[in-house]
Amino acid sequence: MDNDRSLVRRVSFGKRMYPMRSTGMLVGLWCVGSVLYQHDVGWPWWVLLGLHAFVWPHVAYLLMLRASNPVRAEYRNLTVDSMLGGMWIAAMAFDTLPSVVLAVMLVLDKVIVGGGRFSAKTFASMALTCLTVSALIGFPFQPYTSYLSVIGSLPLLIVYPLVIAVQSRRLAQRTLIQKRVLEKTSRFDAATGLMNREQWQFVANVELNRFVRTAQPAVLMMIDIDDFKTINDGYGHTVGDTVIEEFALLMKACLRDQDTGGRYGGDEFGIVMPNTRWEEAIVAAERLRRQVAAYNFPGYGEHCTISIGLAEINPTIHNVTEWVISADEALYSAKHKGRDRIEVAKLPGVTPVTVDAIAPRSRAVRGV
Ligand code: GH3
Ligand code: MG
Repeated sequence: MDNDRSLVRRVSFGKRMYPMRSTGMLVGLWCVGSVLYQHDVGWPWWVLLGLHAFVWPHVAYLLMLRASNPVRAEYRNLTVDSMLGGMWIAAMAFDTLPSVVLAVMLVLDKVIVGGGRFSAKTFASMALTCLTVSALIGFPFQPYTSYLSVIGSLPLLIVYPLVIAVQSRRLAQRTLIQKRVLEKTSRFDAATGLMNREQWQFVANVELNRFVRTAQPAVLMMIDIDDFKTINDGYGHTVGDTVIEEFALLMKACLRDQDTGGRYGGDEFGIVMPNTRWEEAIVAAERLRRQVAAYNFPGYGEHCTISIGLAEINPTIHNVTEWVISADEALYSAKHKGRDRIEVAKLPGVTPVTVDAIAPRSRAVRGV
């Protein structure tokens, strides 16, 4: 599947070049033809020109399609383009304007497609072919450009840069779309659609800064699925993956508009709860805990439980790492005490209290 995709991508480069080459050959035909006409050249040159303009683009396309490495084949075709261009410059006896226009256009598209090194290489091939062909036909040299040659060069001068500009714009737009997709996928976890750790920590940091500025409270909730390894071991990773995905859905359904959920990593999740005190957060945590405990996860015959650690922001917390560590400590305390429960991190200057009165069946304990 991946190989197929990569082949499609590699062939698409040659497919982009096909209309460019076909158009370039047609306008090039006018340019070269106008000069050959004035020099009254023999019929073999006209046959060659016809083959180059009408047959070569299709042959090049087929060669690219049939190649085991279409990209390399297309680069080879581009080098042949330059060599043939060199041949026509010699055949035009170095008629100044058409020769320069042809050479510049052939370098221009190589710079866009392959960069400086590739264009230098193809330019060298063009120059070498030009000198060889020129030597073979007796080094004709007629640099004077007639008005007819100027008119003949105009289509190449006008149309080809436009075709290159349109292709470059399309390529730039495609690159932009790919960049956006990449940005999106790098901010979100592919399996759950939740923010990934970095992005979620960024949101937590925003709340931390808000607390520093305005003293508005906020809570971090860290959640870990209990004994998840046994699900993987007993039912396989596919069921494990499903449990993670389904849990993420349950978690999302529990979030308020202002809350932000994220996948912290593996079977650990986090929720940033702005403008919330730990007493309120524990109600939400308990609701989620009960829903998970009651849920029938597809493919998994048993009930699954979660442990939750809560940490309210306070002046002893200076950065997101410290905030996560605080909630994580509460979470590990919940694990340590037997799992399927909620623990709240200790707030400085507050005597630890149990919170059964707030969430009677939560078994949550304040004061880790
Ligand atoms: P505890 O109750 O202490 O959390 O025990 P646990 O078995 O859940 O242990 P822990 O949280 O440390 O292990 C999480 C395991 O989840 C480890 C890893 O192999 C597995 N895991 C992590 N990410 C994925 C995933 O995307 N899919 C699946 N199927 N398994 C994963
Ligand atoms: Mg776990």
